[in-house]
Amino acid sequence: MELATLRQVLVYLVGLLACFGLWTFVIYWLHRWSHVHHRLNPLWWIHRAHHAEPYLREDSHPKWPTLGQFLFWLGGFRLSLDVVLVMTLPLLVIAWLWPKYAVPLLLFHYFYEVFLSESVLDHNPRITNRLTRWFAWGDFHLHHHVNLKKNYGLMLGLWDFLFGTAEAPAAGASLARIQARLQRLERTRRVAESARKSPAKSNVGGLSSA
Ligand SMILES: [Zn+2]
Ligand SMILES: [Zn+2]
Repeated sequence: MELATLRQVLVYLVGLLACFGLWTFVIYWLHRWSHVHHRLNPLWWIHRAHHAEPYLREDSHPKWPTLGQFLFWLGGFRLSLDVVLVMTLPLLVIAWLWPKYAVPLLLFHYFYEVFLSESVLDHNPRITNRLTRWFAWGDFHLHHHVNLKKNYGLMLGLWDFLFGTAEAPAAGASLARIQARLQRLERTRRVAESARKSPAKSNVGGLSSA
């Protein structure tokens, strides 16, 4: 009896993992399709909003979600629609086809998007090296924001490796890019500041010569 129960649990877990794998496979292709630049491709118009967000920033530390995020409002209309069309809808179809896996899969999707996706895992520049060989987190996904033709996988890197779109960034590359960007911003700020000061100097010069 106990052995039969254990077998049932194992069979259930294998089915659950298979559904999760199928979901990540569909997401990979939908995300890849979202990068087909064509005016008749609404997914590209929607997904562009994700790439317009300044995810590559140093303050991307884990944050407690806002009330909007709890209600699945993920920062804006197109940002939320992007997740719903590319991730939630395929999962609802899978849940409809195999209803016994619906609850754990939908709970996982909700929890991941609300708590983990933005700054904890997907866009956290501190996640590098070994983890990013398996999971599409940190450096792996941030590299997709640099090279839009690579690393389409979400959550798993597997499909990129299988379909030849994986590209490993140098370890810690996103942090280096953030630091370079901050230095550029600082230089721009200093130039703007000295430009603000110099007209004042020339005015003083102008007054003294008058
Ligand atoms: Zn993308
Ligand atoms: Zn992203």
